[in-house]
Amino acid sequence: MTKPYQRPAADEPAWWFVISGGELLMTEERQIPHGFLEELPFPDLNDYTTVYIGELRERSCYLIIADFGDLNFSVVGEFLSVRELVIGSDDELFAMAARAKQIADFLPTHRYCGRCGARMQAVDWEIAMHCHTCQHRCYPRISPCIIVAIRKGRQILLARSKRHPKGQYSVLAGFVEAGEPLETTLAREVMEEAGIRIKNPRYVLSQSWPFPNSLMMGFLAEWESGDVRIDPFELEEGGWFDIDHLPLIPQPGTIANKLIMRLKAEIDQEKNRPI
Ligand SMILES: [Zn+2]
Repeated sequence: MTKPYQRPAADEPAWWFVISGGELLMTEERQIPHGFLEELPFPDLNDYTTVYIGELRERSCYLIIADFGDLNFSVVGEFLSVRELVIGSDDELFAMAARAKQIADFLPTHRYCGRCGARMQAVDWEIAMHCHTCQHRCYPRISPCIIVAIRKGRQILLARSKRHPKGQYSVLAGFVEAGEPLETTLAREVMEEAGIRIKNPRYVLSQSWPFPNSLMMGFLAEWESGDVRIDPFELEEGGWFDIDHLPLIPQPGTIANKLIMRLKAEIDQEKNRPI
């Protein structure tokens, strides 16, 4: 097993996830730098924290943590939001970039122990920070969230929050609170945000969403009762939309888009079923 802080091998091409200020280094073609270390115009990596974070398509992946505003990588490309990678719909690459971004956020924010205040040290066989004074150990924080596409006949519930781009609607989502089973989160969030009850929730898929550290768990569900009352604190507007006349929705590659498309496919399949 490759250890997190093992030096990159010189004779093996790898993926290089360089993070600065929460943004990811991408080449002009919006690609992640890939290749032999000596062939890439990188500065001396001894000056940077470099972490082995896993494998992608049988190649090692390294995270390089650069300072904010570091110009030493400008010959390779520019630093952009990890969101740029969602557009290409390459789920594996996006997931690894999400991992890189979250670890780059975790390490520098856990230099001191939250329990006793002593300096913490990186564990050399897993991604964790350890306090040798009181034995407190920290791992990258992951915040579970539910995201749910709800149907009522041939309609889907969509809403827009102030955070969404202009004119864009999406499915409901919310954080899991301490001690909550997912079923409770689903019922609570949907009631809080839209004022309705749902039934038959079904887990479909998940996506890491590193802004800053969400794990989105995607469900489909059915309306059970109640009129839609949109929570004005969380959302601007929302309601039922005919599945064949959708407004602007999140871009392909996002879990919201995948859930909406999955629901549409299921509804279309019912329509085509012979009677
Ligand atoms: Zn401690």
